[in-house]
Amino acid sequence: MRTRKLDPYHPLYKRSHDRTTNPALSRLSRFLKKIPSSEKINPLLFPPWERGTTFNYSFDKDNLDFFDPSDSSGNKFQTFLNRVPKNDIQLYTDGSKNPEGGVGIGYVIYQIDRQVFRGSGPLCVHNVPYDAEVHAVLHGIRTATNLPTARFAKDLWVFTDNKELASKFYSMDNIRSSQKAHIEALEAAKMWKSRLRLPHIDVGQVKICWIPGHSGITGNEQADYEAKKGSFLSYHEDNPSHSFSSLEKWHSLKLLRTKEVWWKTHLHTNYTQLEINTIPAFPKELLLSRKALGRIISLRTGHGDFAAYHKRFGHTNSNENCLCGSSKTRLHLFFCRILRRRGYRPKGSINQLLPKLLGTPEGAILLTKWLEQTKFFEEICTR
Ligand SMILES: [Zn+2]
Repeated sequence: MRTRKLDPYHPLYKRSHDRTTNPALSRLSRFLKKIPSSEKINPLLFPPWERGTTFNYSFDKDNLDFFDPSDSSGNKFQTFLNRVPKNDIQLYTDGSKNPEGGVGIGYVIYQIDRQVFRGSGPLCVHNVPYDAEVHAVLHGIRTATNLPTARFAKDLWVFTDNKELASKFYSMDNIRSSQKAHIEALEAAKMWKSRLRLPHIDVGQVKICWIPGHSGITGNEQADYEAKKGSFLSYHEDNPSHSFSSLEKWHSLKLLRTKEVWWKTHLHTNYTQLEINTIPAFPKELLLSRKALGRIISLRTGHGDFAAYHKRFGHTNSNENCLCGSSKTRLHLFFCRILRRRGYRPKGSINQLLPKLLGTPEGAILLTKWLEQTKFFEEICTR
């Protein structure tokens, strides 16, 4: 995947992308063929001295307030909006991905407190919401520039609820996905200056601001609605390719699936009994104390202070019996009569208790409590 982020002058670029000169002969190109097609990010598109600049538009003090993360209400925005000249065009944009995977863009345009345009459309499914946000800004700016009423407006205000996009739009730094659409949107923003306008109207510029999402700002809500609508429209592309962020997502899903398959084939039989069939990224059992975790792992795997285990490894001086006289087995604690007399046993039959106590993090906590209260390993089933 990193070869998709190489600059065209990189020695590996040609070897990884030019398939005519080297038709799938090298190990590298054979391997790369397994990765679905995606956009290529050119990290050298802009020279370093142009990056991080905001060009001719910098946020003044008023606008910086938008970047205050503690303000999740739309109130501050309303106060600000009242100061925006009524002739100026306000563009609200949003992108959305529905649970079925469809991606949509939406934008709504206001001028003189009136909604003058609303648009929505679908995108290829190989996009993430961030890509949709970029495309929504691109289409929104193009539409606003071509509006007949654009000649009355000085500035075009773009309001997006994506903070990353708002802060990076004019800076050339680290475009992580949909680079082409981002560049086109910048071009479109330049075109705003050459629109048809009345003689007394200034050239103006495209200003992009972050606004809090889902905070009751009418324009934002409507753009959200349009984007959701767009995500359900049908979309067809002959050779669909992933955006870079979508490729990253594909990769992490693939990694997860591979892990799951590996887990299923290498699963210990005890684990099948206990119905432990997934590997979470961070098992909550790890939050238990080291001692409790050790007990649970030995109960799960059978590697521990059990008679069978001592026999297998030929231990001579080990205590193979519980205080009750029975031999120490992995599941003896469920049958030990001394432990039973001490009480505190969680409710349920053994068949229910087993997968619950040994197989789930919540059960592990219950089990630890039970064993601590009864001092099972300290007084009854000692080493
Ligand atoms: Zn016992």
